[in-house]
Amino acid sequence: MDGGSGNCKGSVIRWTSDDESYTFGLPGITSVFTAELLAINKALNIVSPNYRSILICSDSYSAFQALENFYSKHPVVIDCRKSRREEVVLCRLRLGHTRITHEYLMSGEAPPLCTRCNCRMTVHHILREGED
Ligand SMILES: [Zn+2]
Repeated sequence: MDGGSGNCKGSVIRWTSDDESYTFGLPGITSVFTAELLAINKALNIVSPNYRSILICSDSYSAFQALENFYSKHPVVIDCRKSRREEVVLCRLRLGHTRITHEYLMSGEAPPLCTRCNCRMTVHHILREGED
């Protein structure tokens, strides 16, 4: 995945894997900086949220600086954080592994119990409990 200058008409994002290759054209006014951020965002949306950590390689130091800057208001930086976070949360809910339900494994304490019905606290139970 790479973002950068494509030709005189604008920037492009190129993505290549073993069996697939895509090129996304970007408007001519798109800066190389934004193209790099869009390439990283595209990669984050393609990579499965099952991975706990991802290694992102880019030749844009300024893109990484922007992603590390918690106060960045750049819309693509915000979207990168949001989309990855949402994917991770949805994946954890699907797997049933959340901090609330599984922190006891790290602390060595007993599994958490529901304060309403005293049964074992699971993601399924939390979601079902909301129906009452
Ligand atoms: Zn309950």
